[in-house]
Amino acid sequence: MARILIVEDNALNIKLFCDLLAAHGHEPQAVLDSRLALDSARSFEPDLVITDIQLPHVSGLELIGLLREDEQLKEVPIMAVTAYSGIGDEERVRAAGAQAYVSKPISVVRFVAEVEALLPKERVLEDAESSPRT
Ligand code: MN
Repeated sequence: MARILIVEDNALNIKLFCDLLAAHGHEPQAVLDSRLALDSARSFEPDLVITDIQLPHVSGLELIGLLREDEQLKEVPIMAVTAYSGIGDEERVRAAGAQAYVSKPISVVRFVAEVEALLPKERVLEDAESSPRT
């Protein structure tokens, strides 16, 4: 189970993403107002952040930049979800520091596959790290 922070201003998308992630055993938390996203991320300590790009106040691109500059959150993987898929958009999103890019309307299969690919393979790593090396 992973904690996944969703930053999205559309209530229907929030419901869709939360339902999908919960159905796959994860713990989603949604933030509608991107101005609250950084504080929410600091307290929720997500394993993954999913952010819309078209957001009022603080755009998804700005938020990705803020997360990448934050000492506590800079390593957390980010998946961008965007309705407007123009030329160069994916490059801009990736250059800002997101690891994945999914366009809306989302393909459920693609969405879930991208999420799983970004989550740490925690059990394998923990087992390896807990065994003595010398
Ligand atoms: Mn939006």
